[in-house]
Amino acid sequence: MTVPIDLHCHSTMSDGLLSPEELVAHAASKGVRVLALTDHDEVSGLARARVAAEQHGIHLIDGVEISATWKKRTLHIVGLRVNPQHPALLEAFARVREGRDARARQIAEGLAKAGIANAYEGAREISGNSVMTRSHFAQFLVKQGHAKNIKSVFKKYMVKGKPGYVNHEWMSLQEALTLIKDSGGQAVLAHPGRYDLGFVNMHLLLNEFRDQGGVALEVVTGSHQPPQYAQFAKLAHRFDLKASQGSDYHGPGMSYMEMGRLPDLPAGCVPVWQDWPEASLLQ
Ligand code: AMP
Ligand code: MN
Ligand code: MN
Ligand code: MN
Repeated sequence: MTVPIDLHCHSTMSDGLLSPEELVAHAASKGVRVLALTDHDEVSGLARARVAAEQHGIHLIDGVEISATWKKRTLHIVGLRVNPQHPALLEAFARVREGRDARARQIAEGLAKAGIANAYEGAREISGNSVMTRSHFAQFLVKQGHAKNIKSVFKKYMVKGKPGYVNHEWMSLQEALTLIKDSGGQAVLAHPGRYDLGFVNMHLLLNEFRDQGGVALEVVTGSHQPPQYAQFAKLAHRFDLKASQGSDYHGPGMSYMEMGRLPDLPAGCVPVWQDWPEASLLQ
């Protein structure tokens, strides 16, 4: 990593393995100087991360990764520089949390039909008080010996067509973008290469995203292969969007990419942090 900035990662407040304090310490040990914590539909780790960041000389960006539904697909929208006290944001996340809990019960029902009992309780034990995600079910299933690792357990149980998959309706893309904007944040379309959209739908999405206030595409992420860096850099340019970079780190053994190892954005990208006060720290 030549530019020591990482704008996407998760703590135990969603489905990461490290507490906010541990995550910040880990980022610092890997040379990250500017870090956004972006838990799924959750901002409760930011205050703790901020205290740790001050101790480690890291500049923390308040972030979140919002789950949204667009044309029956789930998209993830990263919000950067959001106000974690914004009432509309907190209300919306309380609703998402309830929806996630109801979905978790349905996931457990599906797994019970496949002969796996008590998955709700098992996943809840792992998630503690955090939002319940498919990752917690995946960890429970690995612990029970149903697959050897998180990646294979997702394939076998947690994706479309499998017993632990539930089709869930998240907030709309418009609502997610409005929440981010109204709470003072900048919206980034997370890992666009993961959505398996064809050319036409990707173009439709990027037009809508930009027209509704979206600011940047996540070009470099642990979910992309290097050819996708160039592909999405080109699309960012074409749709007049800035570019972001983040590891999407979830903890040891849970991630595609370690912190502090991000390649630079391709030439020609306008970094989403270009006008931020922290930009001067990165030169
Ligand atoms: P949820 O928001 O509860 O649907 O959980 C989504 C989370 O599950 C993502 O943020 C990833 O951390 C994880 N995830 C999704 N798909 C996979 C996969 N194929 N392999 C490993 N982790 C995955
Ligand atoms: Mn996750
Ligand atoms: Mn995501
Ligand atoms: Mn993520």
